[in-house]
Amino acid sequence: MMLVDTHCHLMDQQFADDLDDVIRRAEAEGIGRMIVPAVDLATAHEVIRIAEAYPNVYAAVGIHPESANDVPASHFDEIERLAKHEKVVAIGEIGLDYYWDSAPHAVQQDVMARQIEIAKRVGLPIIVHNRESTEDIIQLLDRMNVAESGGVMHCFSGSENDARRCLAMGMYISFGGPVTFKKADDVRAVAAVIPDDRILVETDSPYLSPHPFRGKRNEPSRVKIVAQQVADVRNVSLEALAAQTTANALRLFSKVGL
Ligand SMILES: [Zn+2]
Ligand SMILES: [Zn+2]
Repeated sequence: MMLVDTHCHLMDQQFADDLDDVIRRAEAEGIGRMIVPAVDLATAHEVIRIAEAYPNVYAAVGIHPESANDVPASHFDEIERLAKHEKVVAIGEIGLDYYWDSAPHAVQQDVMARQIEIAKRVGLPIIVHNRESTEDIIQLLDRMNVAESGGVMHCFSGSENDARRCLAMGMYISFGGPVTFKKADDVRAVAAVIPDDRILVETDSPYLSPHPFRGKRNEPSRVKIVAQQVADVRNVSLEALAAQTTANALRLFSKVGL
């Protein structure tokens, strides 16, 4: 059985002391590939360094909406250059975050749009972060014709209707630790109805640890707990869910080799 953690921030300071162990533990649990998204230009360099050091780790480069203020034009050029690295498999994470609201909405939208253009130029999918900005995200993805790049709505927590609108644009839907939370019946209901060929799993480590580790540092090995929960609500075995989500990850992130 092999699982892909499609979203783990292994460059986070919380992994600075034991990254070797974290990756070894994941591999021992069958997490055969890990994708590490950056949040700005500095971390874009870091995630590439980690991907170069570990054969099963891949990178995504991009500017997160929390880092969207005052981005120099040169940073977009540099992201585009880094995207051509052999282990960079996506542009991400990018998106809108109206909860933290670190930058004006128009600025966030501009930063996201410019990176979708980069994704199209370099032929990579996007990894989309959305917090309290669903309507604007969906409109932007539609306006930008995101089907040309493809991508994933990471750590999805929206409604079934939101999911269907994203699916209609060709997007994949990824579930993380929150699908295991006690009060997340609505998220589980959505996870139950995503088409087999569009569903992914992730941890968003070091954040969002699944139950019963909620509040503790998360790590890629725990994507197995997420996958088990998603398998349960879809009435399939963990093995079948793993095979399906891994095939989906390798299709979407086509630069991830087997
Ligand atoms: Zn995110
Ligand atoms: Zn993230």
